[in-house]
Amino acid sequence: MNSDLIIVGGGLNGPALALAAATTGLTVTLIDAQPISTHKDPAFDGRSYAMALASTRLLDAIGIWPAIRDAAQPMLEIKVTDGRAGEGPSPWMMHFDYAEIEEGPMGYLVEDRHLRAAFLASLDHPNVTHLHGQTVTDQTIGNYDVTVTLDDGSTRTGRVLIGSDGRQSGTGSRAGITRTEWGYGQTALVCAVEHEHPHGGIAHQFFMPPGPLAILPLTKNRSSIVWSENAETAERFMALDDDGFVKELKPRFGSFLGNIKLAGKRYSYPLGLTLADSFVADRIALIGDAAHGVHPIAGQGLNAGMRDVAALAEVLTNARRRGEDIGSSAVLARYQQWRRFDTTTLAAATDGFNRLFSNDNPLVRAARDIGMGVVNAVPKLRHSFIREAAGLTGDLPKLMQGRRL
Ligand SMILES: Cc1cc2nc3c(=O)[nH]c(=O)nc-3n(C[C@H](O)[C@H](O)[C@H](O)COP(=O)(O)OP(=O)(O)OC[C@H]3O[C@@H](n4cnc5c(N)ncnc54)[C@H](O)[C@@H]3O)c2cc1C
Repeated sequence: MNSDLIIVGGGLNGPALALAAATTGLTVTLIDAQPISTHKDPAFDGRSYAMALASTRLLDAIGIWPAIRDAAQPMLEIKVTDGRAGEGPSPWMMHFDYAEIEEGPMGYLVEDRHLRAAFLASLDHPNVTHLHGQTVTDQTIGNYDVTVTLDDGSTRTGRVLIGSDGRQSGTGSRAGITRTEWGYGQTALVCAVEHEHPHGGIAHQFFMPPGPLAILPLTKNRSSIVWSENAETAERFMALDDDGFVKELKPRFGSFLGNIKLAGKRYSYPLGLTLADSFVADRIALIGDAAHGVHPIAGQGLNAGMRDVAALAEVLTNARRRGEDIGSSAVLARYQQWRRFDTTTLAAATDGFNRLFSNDNPLVRAARDIGMGVVNAVPKLRHSFIREAAGLTGDLPKLMQGRRL
């Protein structure tokens, strides 16, 4: 047996689980197809994540938050408005302020480069074997163990196999797990901009008819942009040079932060929903995008993955302490029970919000504007939205409560 856990996929959720498990004494083999050099580039490449407060507690518990904290931007307020390109926001809005909760900022904007560098440094852990630039091509499930085959023909054996291998999870499909999925006909354009005026830690979400535009505060006078457009328009905008792209962005972004210019590269992601019909199979569990890929409208994809990590680490650690077989169906069923309903609800909510807001029907517009006005005016509703954004609702795993396993 090479290790207790074999984790396929070293994106973001895989390393988080590797560390969460390793710190409780479980041994882990983490395998990723990417060569390690791609994770070491120190230049800002325009990618970042809105991480809820609960997710940053997990990062703290697994020891990587101190390396990231100083380079992370606290998210103090969120403003949500309806708008159209060139017209500015509508007067109806929802405004969420972290001062209404005791716990602190609702979350932090973390740059991809800092997150990956911190993971990489911490994976040099006595309980973790980190294999990179190697692809898993096959898996065999035994009565008491699971064996994966790598593209060089070598094998690794563990008690439980974790699929953290993204939306096209080979681990899931090799196990016969089917998926429910559909496309949105939208593409997210992702980049970062520098602006003249300070953002004050405020995140903005403008709902435009073709899709939402999120402007998320980064450190200094910089913001991250997640701009959803219909697929054809997005393709046209991506084909423009940087000046042409910024010229299209400006009327949507508005002038409230002064002049803007690109910082880093531009990316495009076709948007779709994908939900594994089961998060577990014999000796297998899926986490992160391998289990669920949702619309980025609420910036919750990675946060949902981090919750999988925290829940699965807790289930496995408790099972081991009780002397159970950590790969048994009974143990893995506890993880599925904890996470699948929550994630299905998140997938349905993000899907519903996208349909409701990416819509120019005047009646629908009027109804949602009134809805936003109501949420904004009722403190109890507003408060629950703030707690939701901070990731503090529901059955929170210990690592997200700031407790140790
Ligand atoms: C536009 C956009 C904006 C987003 N913004 C946010 C945000 O603000 N906040 C947030 O919470 N979430 C956000 N998300 C979601 C977030 O980016 C994803 O949920 C997250 O990156 C998924 O991480 P992962 O580790 O599960 O999967 P991935 O990052 O896809 O990693 C999978 C890894 O598996 C490896 N792999 C695959 N197959 C094999 C194999 N056979 N053998 C070995 N390795 C393999 C790959 O090399 C890869 O490294 C956003 C998503 C999009 C598209």
